[in-house]
Amino acid sequence: MRMVRDASRVVVFTGAGISTESGIPDFRSPGGMWTKFRPIEYQDYMASAEMRAEAWRRKFAMEPTFRAARPGRGHGAVAHLVRVGKVRHVITQNIDNLHQMSGVPDNRVIELHGNTTYALCMECGQRREIDDIRKEYEATGAAPDCLKCGGIVKTATISFGQAMPEEEMLRAEAATRDCDLFLAIGSSLVVYPAAGFPLMAKRNGARLVIINRERTELDRYADLVINEDIGTVLAPLSTLNS
Ligand code: NAD
Repeated sequence: MRMVRDASRVVVFTGAGISTESGIPDFRSPGGMWTKFRPIEYQDYMASAEMRAEAWRRKFAMEPTFRAARPGRGHGAVAHLVRVGKVRHVITQNIDNLHQMSGVPDNRVIELHGNTTYALCMECGQRREIDDIRKEYEATGAAPDCLKCGGIVKTATISFGQAMPEEEMLRAEAATRDCDLFLAIGSSLVVYPAAGFPLMAKRNGARLVIINRERTELDRYADLVINEDIGTVLAPLSTLNS
């Protein structure tokens, strides 16, 4: 609390751990998604209609979980800190849209791994809505294509093997270099290049706080490590004035 109060330009960096309270499993905790199926890599998705159909099958299997998810106490506290001007940017690895749903304006959220609540054509960039894709998929059993150009359509997420989004990476770097406090929340900090931002902040003179139930590789660089529940730790920040 005191470190947040003393800082003037805070960057919040989040991973799947901030959304477990909302009912979305993370990747690497016991029972997490990683233990259920191996992710489909970008090249495999683009090369194989079967892989695309399988990816949509998994997506629709997870859909009720994502649809039912509402922002938790952690999201609420972060949104409050943005509202009072303490936090300038929220850099997130999450694809669940919960920061936006909690009231953080779109232009304050930097999504490093995209967003799973809509889809994009990989050729022309045309957006498609998940509900329409679902209807088509259920009718044909095949992965739907772009209605405009016939290109391959994929959720607007960044898969393993896919290039990182350029603009978001640049914005995240600028925000990280500009901050005086970097809060890394709910990430195992093993997925690079995203996990490079906490160290970038530290090397640039910011203080680094890691809030995560489990230990991370970067703990030794942090000024403070809190191995406790995110919602419980962040909830009191919802009353901070500025
Ligand atoms: P991760 O699963 O590797 O790590 C999550 C960390 O959060 C774990 O170390 C776990 O101990 C901790 N954690 C979970 N619940 C917690 C709680 N209530 N309090 C404190 N700590 C808690 O997640 P990651 O580092 O974000 O990497 C996974 C990748 O998978 C991300 O890049 C993201 O794109 C994607 N992903 C996103 C979602 C989502 O959008 N909600 C969910 C799963 C995976």
